[in-house]
Amino acid sequence: MHVDTPHLTGHGPARRDDLRNLAIVAHVDHGKTTLVDSLLKQAGTFSAHESIAERVMDSNDLEREKGITILAKNTSVRWGGVTLNIVDTPGHADFGGEVERALTMVDGIVLLVDAAEGPLPQTRFVLRKALGYDMPVILVINKIDRPDARVKEVVDEAYELFMDLDASDEQLDFPIVYCSGRDGWASLDENTAHDESLRGDSLAPLCDVILDTIPSPAYTPDAPLQAWVTNLDANQYVGRLALCRVIEGTIEKGKQVAWCRLDGTIQRTKVAELFLTEQLTRVPVDSAGPGDLVAVAGIEEITIGETLADAENPVPLPRITVDEPALSMT
Ligand code: GDP
Repeated sequence: MHVDTPHLTGHGPARRDDLRNLAIVAHVDHGKTTLVDSLLKQAGTFSAHESIAERVMDSNDLEREKGITILAKNTSVRWGGVTLNIVDTPGHADFGGEVERALTMVDGIVLLVDAAEGPLPQTRFVLRKALGYDMPVILVINKIDRPDARVKEVVDEAYELFMDLDASDEQLDFPIVYCSGRDGWASLDENTAHDESLRGDSLAPLCDVILDTIPSPAYTPDAPLQAWVTNLDANQYVGRLALCRVIEGTIEKGKQVAWCRLDGTIQRTKVAELFLTEQLTRVPVDSAGPGDLVAVAGIEEITIGETLADAENPVPLPRITVDEPALSMT
């Protein structure tokens, strides 16, 4: 765990300045996977034997190929000493519950829109939910290299969409980044669409906007553990994995926790294994702190919406309402 000395401003909460949790949302084919590939490549995270062409978010085939590697459902990239946890969201509107669960793990959204196609139904669907959670949104106009890019119109369409969804003035004040995920560059200057000499050679401008716009996770120093189970996964070696966002306190491998169940009962149980995501894989750790997105093994019947809390002082978090029962158990 890397909880820095609490950065206290006035009476506000402490913050994990070394962490940002965000979701990239996009209509199918608007370039989410390619952008994450490029981020990983630029952050220098692929080892020599891995091909950059491998699709990172669609991890099932890869997982099968590698056999023993536990691939994460989210991806994390280190940028300027900060860990960016990137949570995937489904590219289609059928899995409503899954979008909501992804949003409960993050503090902001990168809304990726194809520079030629403009906002499409999934963009609208997820944006409506994100605005409801009152999260900052960064608009990324992607594929700006396309000869048929119509940047100004697409930006206007995005503003119309925000207004149509009753965004507040503050929400309408979103930053815009122009980007070619495929070619691996981003810019704050819309003229890059017409003037190639203005294009940089990296995604640094996008990462800087993420660091400036998406708040670092807030927490209360010395608060007892509260971790929210927001999704499930499974692995043949460790069984069921509860994917949690630690809200307060520290969760530790081998320690007792209070498992606050949906039926209102509280059971003491032990954390057998803990994993954090590094790049594409889960790595075992001894502890995780506030804001961390952690996978917890050892609690076979745990389910979404439950809380892992301090063994002595258990305070359950509110339930997450889930409107579809299907859970992917890869
Ligand atoms: P996803 O469904 O959002 O994950 O989209 P993908 O990343 O799979 O990309 C969909 C298609 O768009 C692929 O054929 C990519 O090669 C292409 N693509 C992705 N990013 C860019 C880009 O920046 N520029 C161009 N011209 N094509 C891109």
